[in-house]
Amino acid sequence: MSASSLSFENTSHDDLLTGRSPWGMHLKAPERVALTESISTDVAVVGGGITGALAAEHLTSLGHEVVVIDREQLGLGSTRASTAMLQWETDSSLADLTALYGFETAAHVYRRSRAAVAGLAELVAIHRIACVFHPRPTLYIAAGETGDRQLREELDLRHRAGLPGVFLPYLSLRKEFGLDREAAILSPGSAEADPLLLCWSLLDIAASRGARMIAANAVNFHDEGKRVVIETDGPYVIEAAQVVLATGYVMPHFVMPETHATASSFALSTVPQSPDRLWAERALIWEASDPYLYMRVTADNRIIIGGEDEEIADPEKRDAMLWDKTLKLKEKLTKLWPKANATISHAWCGAFGETSDGLPLIGPVPGSPNIFAAYGYGGNGITFSYLASRMIAAMIAGDSQAWFEDFALDRPKRTPPA
Ligand SMILES: Cc1cc2nc3c(=O)[nH]c(=O)nc-3n(C[C@H](O)[C@H](O)[C@H](O)COP(=O)(O)OP(=O)(O)OC[C@H]3O[C@@H](n4cnc5c(N)ncnc54)[C@H](O)[C@@H]3O)c2cc1C
Repeated sequence: MSASSLSFENTSHDDLLTGRSPWGMHLKAPERVALTESISTDVAVVGGGITGALAAEHLTSLGHEVVVIDREQLGLGSTRASTAMLQWETDSSLADLTALYGFETAAHVYRRSRAAVAGLAELVAIHRIACVFHPRPTLYIAAGETGDRQLREELDLRHRAGLPGVFLPYLSLRKEFGLDREAAILSPGSAEADPLLLCWSLLDIAASRGARMIAANAVNFHDEGKRVVIETDGPYVIEAAQVVLATGYVMPHFVMPETHATASSFALSTVPQSPDRLWAERALIWEASDPYLYMRVTADNRIIIGGEDEEIADPEKRDAMLWDKTLKLKEKLTKLWPKANATISHAWCGAFGETSDGLPLIGPVPGSPNIFAAYGYGGNGITFSYLASRMIAAMIAGDSQAWFEDFALDRPKRTPPA
């Protein structure tokens, strides 16, 4: 993993995403208003993507006065690039996390992640959010070095942790899902959604409770003990008792943890498929390899396939690869799922923030106890954003739990064994 990162000051949405994703662009983003005077609030959420939206919705539900600040259109950063597989299995297998942190911690992380997806489902149901949210099973398929034996061991560990899932040996996988791989783990409890519609709806809910959406560029943060002063690039400041940093794959220099790096990821979606060309249960399919290939189906029957990650952060270099990567993904789709009509409708690529252990960065910024980071990195970005919103609200309320440390920004860099 290269220690690359994107500039906090100069990274725009165009640097985060190139091409077109298939999400709710026919709708209009919630409005932001200009900052015409200095203002103060309980909590300032910096960044109005899915992470900021989840934080704003939850904090307003608890009665906090909230301001959401974004320097560009709400939701149109990395949130628009997401393929929105809302999984509880993390990018690091339970076996890898166990090797890094021991079984008890690893099992806790997995259980919290599972509870986060369940919490997200409940939130969508309570507010009847129209974001084509659907519960889906996941199919974790053998790939690379991970075959039948490794998947059985992984599932044993999961069962020991109280997690659900069944093993599908070659013949069952072939019969039930039509996939030609050595084996797979089939697990319930994940979901899919349109990430943009989810984000905008959550912001609308927060706004209906009085949250203000402000168009401003936060350039500096001063934690002065009782208040944090956010300098903007205009004449006015925003003062808040607490700040939540939800700036996605760009983070201020004073945050930059050693375990974080920015890579690039690629995806395409096909034209809508006739139902006989889709696999069983519309499962979220992902490979047991690093980096991995993954597939899902959209509400209008398009197949999305993504992966082909590259360890580069430079948006120009990433964009130059888009066409070649799209063709590679198309080829992989045809190989993995020959029934697909592989005609492409959308192709896109984006910055992709990762941590070496696959876990998010959530909690107070070291040295700035009133500034909280909500960085839900990796393929579980949105699941972790939900977790961040709950953890940070608890921290603001003065709650302190030993397990919060599992996601601390200053945890040492650890990489799973090869
Ligand atoms: C190709 C791809 C596929 C993915 N697939 C999945 C998936 O299947 N499942 C999943 O869970 N996750 C997935 N992810 C990850 C997921 O998309 C991210 O975790 C998530 O979108 C991050 O949202 P965010 O709100 O943190 O960031 P963003 O959506 O980027 O929002 C951050 C906002 O902060 C604003 N901002 C930044 N700096 C400032 C500043 N100084 N002042 C004011 N505003 C500022 C930006 O303008 C931006 O609008 C994928 C990502 C990519 C690229």
